[in-house]
Amino acid sequence: MKTQGYAVKSVNAPLESYEFSRRDLRPRDVALDIYFAGICHSDIHQAREEWGPAIFPMVPGHEIVGRVIEIGSQVSKFKVGELIGVGVFVDSCRKCASCNAGLEQYCVEGMTGTYNTLERDGKTVAMGGYSNKFVIDEDYAVHIPENLDLAGVAPLMCAGITLYSPLKNWKAGPGKKVGIMGLGGLGHMGLKFAHALGAETTVFSHSPEKEAGAKAMGADHFVVTKDVKNLERLEKSFDLILNTVSAHLDLEPYLKMLKLDGTFVVIALPGKPYQINVGTMLDQRRSLAGSMIGGMAELQQMLNFCGEHNIVSDVEVIKADYINTAYERTVASDVKYRFVIDAKSF
Ligand code: NAP
Ligand code: ZN
Ligand code: ZN
Repeated sequence: MKTQGYAVKSVNAPLESYEFSRRDLRPRDVALDIYFAGICHSDIHQAREEWGPAIFPMVPGHEIVGRVIEIGSQVSKFKVGELIGVGVFVDSCRKCASCNAGLEQYCVEGMTGTYNTLERDGKTVAMGGYSNKFVIDEDYAVHIPENLDLAGVAPLMCAGITLYSPLKNWKAGPGKKVGIMGLGGLGHMGLKFAHALGAETTVFSHSPEKEAGAKAMGADHFVVTKDVKNLERLEKSFDLILNTVSAHLDLEPYLKMLKLDGTFVVIALPGKPYQINVGTMLDQRRSLAGSMIGGMAELQQMLNFCGEHNIVSDVEVIKADYINTAYERTVASDVKYRFVIDAKSF
């Protein structure tokens, strides 16, 4: 299937127009016209090899929404014309304990990413969502509620599920104090979900100009992190803190804000190890945890929750020729709060 997209051809090169082919439909495959693709900071980390060697040419993009245009002979989950979403992975082993538990993102053999990886045949390079067409096994795609703004739905496929999953896992809700570090693509979804779940939600941001936006999205408190005294005042007060800050930072003042049995969840992946003071962890019996996206069942559950609560991402829709500028602006924390590419422009 002839596909038009945008690719990075070598590390740090600008993205440029790129034509490639997608596979013919297998019996359980679905083909879709992509409508919108979000720009995740993970796309930038990988295009710039901040996580180690990458595969080029790379078509990034794992926040994909569109409509089904064709189905394979054995497809039962989708019909032509239905809305469909694809996220951060396109396959997994389907037989390990994690896959059987619906936690495909933690597949023991490793999930198959949507791009910058080889598919399970060991030779086909997976090509991501900055493109106008996609082919996906029906088990790794989800239904999209028809009532939501589609551009705002695309970021739910990564940013949304990545915050929804830990908030549910660590039981954010009424009576719980939740902190969200960084009000970017992931962080603003974390704020919307924590608020919708009924938690008292605090945003920690190094961008004072984001305060009004945070309050409008439901933040109970907004703390500017540039002065560490603002954090010291809040020591031993949070049940749960989620870190979405894409840059490296000192976690110590944040860990100290956890109260007894509180949990700090590492979500951002800036690519450099953090230093942890063990004494801070022993005090208050604090926990340090990680969390990666969410499984297929939870992804569908989150989309249904968004449909019911009318939750989407706040987006700035761009054309493909703006992607390189969008990357620079994302790194500068200058987007409210996610860039989404209109796939008609590829
Ligand atoms: P993003 O939109 O760029 O947001 C990151 C936010 O971090 C910014 O908006 C900014 O918030 C804050 N920040 C950035 N640079 C900073 C600096 N120098 N000092 C202090 N704060 C800074 O990124 P994203 O797409 O949300 O992704 C965030 C991170 O999560 C990335 O590392 C990404 O790779 C990772 N990620 C992980 C998963 C997972 O499954 N665990 C999934 C997707 C992405 P303020 O302006 O409010 O300070
Ligand atoms: Zn992502
Ligand atoms: Zn598996």
